[in-house]
Formats: sequence, C-alpha cells, structure tokens
Amino acid sequence: MENNEDYLIRALAANGQVRAFGVTSRNLVEESRRIHNNSPIATAALGRLMSAALMMGDMMKEKNDLVTLQIHCDGPLKHVVVTSDFDGNVKGYVSNPDVILPPNNEGHLNVGMGMGKGTLTVIRDYGLKEPYVSQIDLHSGEIADDLTYYYAQSEQIPTSVGLGVLIDREDVKVKASGGFIVQLMPNTDKNVIDKLEDNIRKFPGVTSCLNNGNTPEEMLKIILDGFDVKFNERKPCRFHCSCSHQKGLDVLETLPLKTIREMIEEDKGAEVVCDFCLRKYDYTTEELMSIEEKIKNRS
Ligand code: ZN
Repeated sequence: MENNEDYLIRALAANGQVRAFGVTSRNLVEESRRIHNNSPIATAALGRLMSAALMMGDMMKEKNDLVTLQIHCDGPLKHVVVTSDFDGNVKGYVSNPDVILPPNNEGHLNVGMGMGKGTLTVIRDYGLKEPYVSQIDLHSGEIADDLTYYYAQSEQIPTSVGLGVLIDREDVKVKASGGFIVQLMPNTDKNVIDKLEDNIRKFPGVTSCLNNGNTPEEMLKIILDGFDVKFNERKPCRFHCSCSHQKGLDVLETLPLKTIREMIEEDKGAEVVCDFCLRKYDYTTEELMSIEEKIKNRS
C-alpha cells in the first residue's frame, strides 16, 4: 500500500458478537505535524489520539455529531486536544509541540513519559443542550491503554485498542499511522473471547502491520483471524479545521470588555490564531467596537 489515502473501516465478526474499527491516518497525521512543526513525540501523541478520535467519531450517530478527546497531564506534553466528527474530519493540537524525550526501554517514543499523570476526558456532542462528558485518570499515558481503560470504566464495554505512529528517523516525517478498536457485545461466547485475546496477543502491532503494506482491512482480518468478518463501510478521512472569521468573532465576544477596549486603544485591531490549524484572522477596530456594543447590551 502506498499510503495514498487515509480512511477508516468498520466491521462485524463472529455473528455480530464483535465489532471492530480500523483506520490508516498517515497523511493527516503528517499534515498536522507539518502545520505545527511537532516533535516526534508530539506527533506520536497527537497521531494516536487523532486515529482514536476518528474511530470514535464513526461510532457517533449523525453528520454533525462531534467527539472530543482531551488529555491534561503533568508531563511536558501538558495538554493534547483532538476533535473528530461522523464524517471522517479530524483536527487536533499539542500545547507543547517541541517536547523531546529519550526513548523507552523498547526503543519506542516515550509518549507515556511525555504525559505523566493526568486525565483523559471524552466529550460527545450530539447537538443537544448538554454534551456527554466522562473523565478518567490516565492509566499509562500511552493512549491506547488509556482508552481501553476508559471503555471498561466509563462504558462497561470490553474493548481492545491499538494505536501507532511510525516516524522516519531521518526526516521525522510520518511513515505509518493508524489504529484499531475491537469491542465485545454483551454475552459474547467464551470461546470467541479466548480466540480474540489470543489473536491480539500475537498481533505484531499497528505500525509494523501498516508499514508492511497491509491495509486496515487486512489488519482487522489478522486481529479477527478465525472469525467470519463482514466489512460494513469504508470512509475517507482527513485533517480538517472548520474555523472561520465569524468563529473568531464569537471567541472575541467571550472576552472581558476591558480586554476588547485595550485591543481597540492599544493594538488598533486584533489577531486571532486558531489553535488547531494556526490560521490567522484579523479584526478591525470597527469590528471590535461592534463586539464591545454587543457585550454591553448583553450585560
Ligand atoms: Zn482552524
């Protein structure tokens, strides 16, 4: 496979007792690396979280539903945020993109050390008044483990999550990226569980699988070996940020009146930079003055 296209798939196996998701995300993770100039460890953290969010977005119900994964931690990565939707769009950033740490004992990027202790928050927004929010303490900070733990704790769904980002040592570009989520439905037969656990134990890992030229379909077939597997869909995915001049105005409207006044008097305008894609939006004093009016009328 030439990694030409990022996409995700969904499958059912063992007569519907197992559901599985798989994704290849090399291009979109590379794009976010390039936009933010992320270090390898920041790329790995963000890429793993983006792959997970894409699959979790696919579990949502409708086009405009959003899932956001936030990690706040005391390690040097500090804060990682990713948002995805039902349509294969994902965006994200790491608050500290320059982190460099020694590899772990297996010679891998030490994402767990970059995280340290902290929390993982999952926010599901179905367009209702209040989003669904649940939070767990980070388990290992390696993200796949944390999500496995999240599903067990918060949703009582036995789940196995695998995520990986492989980075070229020479030019630090992303060579492979992706992941899988496998979940058991209630009352799954014990022999199905045993076989699946055995398959997952033997699985060589997401990045070695994808970097060897396997597609996400082939990756899931390896994990679901011995079961009948039905693939339900194939959905292209991409890095996409929906920020706009108008959304920047909405952000400015949340600021204190005093701050807006300072922007008018001292800066003669304002610049808002999107955290996710670093696009810049400029606002004139006239726009700031109309925001000032709006805030005044509101209070
Ligand atoms: Zn943006």
